[in-house]
Amino acid sequence: MRLGIISALAEEQHGLLEALQSPSRHVHGMREYTTGKLWEIDAVCVLSRIGKVAAAMTAAILVEKFGVTHIIFTGVAGSGDKNVKVGDIVIAESLIQHDFNASPLFPQYEIPLTGISRFATDVTLTERLAGAAEKTTRVHRGLIASGDQFIGKLTQIQALKAALPDLLAVEMEGAAVAQVCFEMGIPFAVIRTISDNANDEAAVDFMHFIKTVASRYAFEVIRNFCKS
Ligand code: SAH
Repeated sequence: MRLGIISALAEEQHGLLEALQSPSRHVHGMREYTTGKLWEIDAVCVLSRIGKVAAAMTAAILVEKFGVTHIIFTGVAGSGDKNVKVGDIVIAESLIQHDFNASPLFPQYEIPLTGISRFATDVTLTERLAGAAEKTTRVHRGLIASGDQFIGKLTQIQALKAALPDLLAVEMEGAAVAQVCFEMGIPFAVIRTISDNANDEAAVDFMHFIKTVASRYAFEVIRNFCKS
């Protein structure tokens, strides 16, 4: 296994770079990829920056230039369900691009020429990640929706939930990584710690949370994952 670990923000990657043994930095396409060993696993850590295009590019480069065989995205997300609380972890079973709509040519959410609207994560990788996360906090598994917008209005999250009733979390990168991994045949998983409720208070909660708990969780879960 050569594991690519993507985060969007520096806080989400906190501790991982320090934990990398024999780190080696490579700058490519405005991003810094750090290769090394994470608790015996051959790994490449990178910040994608925010949004679907940024995440898709990063995932493709990880596969094509750095030869990763598996990808994990670790970061924070807004809650998409009343039972999913700030500080809980959501692990994706599938991911959808909630802002993708080529109707009437294709059904809403369907990615043209793939026939897919919900990309499934790798079962083995997801199971192992869930095992690692359950040692840290409460874990939910299910649908994560990604789009190129920060969901910070109650009306926005209510509309998304009405359209996707089984939604657990909203973020801005996961489903893009999912599509790239699907097209490249790379097993992948997405883990998100809930930073906000994607409502009118989301921006304030996000800023607070990202500085405090988010960083510690990401590190703990990846460490447990690598050691399991
Ligand atoms: N003000 C921040 C912007 C962060 S965007 C900054 O300048 O750094 C939010 C990031 O966290 C994205 O990477 C996204 O994946 C995730 N996220 C957390 N809460 C979210 C929400 N409510 N809606 C969309 N993305 C969210």
